[in-house]
Amino acid sequence: MNHILSEYESIVGSTSIRQLRHLGDRLSGIRLVHVNSTREGGGVAEILGWMVPLMQDLGLEASWEVITGTPDFYRVTKSIHNGLQGTPVQLSSRDWALVRDVNAAWAEQHRDTLKEADVVIIHDPQPSMLIDFSRNGRSKWIWRAHIDISHPYRAVWKNLQNIVEKYDASIFSLNAFAQHLPHPQYLIPPSIDPLSEKNCEQPRSEIRKLCRQFDLDCSRPILLQVSRFDRFKDPVGVIKAYRIVRKVAPVQLILAGGGASDDPEGNAVYQEVLEASQGDDDIHVLLLPPDAHRTINGLQRLADIVIQKSTKEGFGLTVTEAMWKGKPVIGGDTGGIRLQVVDYRTGFLVSSPEGAAHRIRFLLDHRRRLNRMGDIAQEFVRENFLLTRHLREYLTLVCALTRTGTDRILYI
Ligand code: UDP
Repeated sequence: MNHILSEYESIVGSTSIRQLRHLGDRLSGIRLVHVNSTREGGGVAEILGWMVPLMQDLGLEASWEVITGTPDFYRVTKSIHNGLQGTPVQLSSRDWALVRDVNAAWAEQHRDTLKEADVVIIHDPQPSMLIDFSRNGRSKWIWRAHIDISHPYRAVWKNLQNIVEKYDASIFSLNAFAQHLPHPQYLIPPSIDPLSEKNCEQPRSEIRKLCRQFDLDCSRPILLQVSRFDRFKDPVGVIKAYRIVRKVAPVQLILAGGGASDDPEGNAVYQEVLEASQGDDDIHVLLLPPDAHRTINGLQRLADIVIQKSTKEGFGLTVTEAMWKGKPVIGGDTGGIRLQVVDYRTGFLVSSPEGAAHRIRFLLDHRRRLNRMGDIAQEFVRENFLLTRHLREYLTLVCALTRTGTDRILYI
């Protein structure tokens, strides 16, 4: 369900809404196209699902397109993704040519949409080569990286850099990800939609039902990690941490996840997780459908502590989602998690299963501290990681790129 801007006023205040309307007035009628590589699964799809309708509500002609390809395309682009996050992957010139061919064919099919656009925002590497086939003389192209590109495998980044250099600007989630590029780079962290099914308030009865549905014992502490089954999310490390805690506390662990259509490795990682959890009825590995937003919302509310033990993370919307529900998060000390988990304030940053176990035990033993951290976490999200701030920054950037002269100065 799409929401309109005015519905957010009670959460973010009237000033934020007024600022957005001012920006919308300046950009009314601008044709803006987002392109990513999956309609569901993962944080990018989550963000585009709320952002595009709100851009439309503000008067922009915004749309969201999804590049699709063969299984080989997803295999290669997943390797590029892994390489950008530092894994030494081997990609041949044929692999790069395959990505180029898929981009070329897709650009041909969407020629009118792309050629008529004033602004094109390309999300992540998969559709990045569209610029070579679809650019018109006047459109502005922005490359938006959602992944942790702080220490990329050089051979992969070098190839991609040659493409990204052609863009007018790029956006990263934090400064550690910025690169040597010949255009302006902007830092815009992601955000969540507090009215979406994933994050809206839920009645207690709906949350309690999940206990029966998933055979959980609500009288014992629940630890939760929500993630695609991806090695960078370290689900097996979470199981190790749980096993250490389990020796001294009657905890249960939920690993809830699913796949994304552009991620061909999910099934293999899911099997690894099943194997690592075998023989323990208190580990609940849930393979959820892509539209299980209310279930994930309820599980995040049901959990005592939420974990996001990633070893690489562009941002980690799951961290924001949990913090918004008043949960402290034990997060991997990496990437975008560092922006959200303020150590000892909104949660703890950890670098090993042992470290995670140590912090879980601390919070279970100090319930008042746990609740206080959760309250601080929620306010931290309200101030920094809700959609209005995110939208304002995108629109300001679009204003800066598309307008010249004094009319780009806004008095808000
Ligand atoms: N998510 C989901 N179902 C799942 C696993 C994840 O809906 O089975 C959602 C999750 O709630 C979050 C997004 O997908 O909104 C994941 O975003 P994040 O930035 O944490 O990680 P990414 O998958 O983009 O690396």
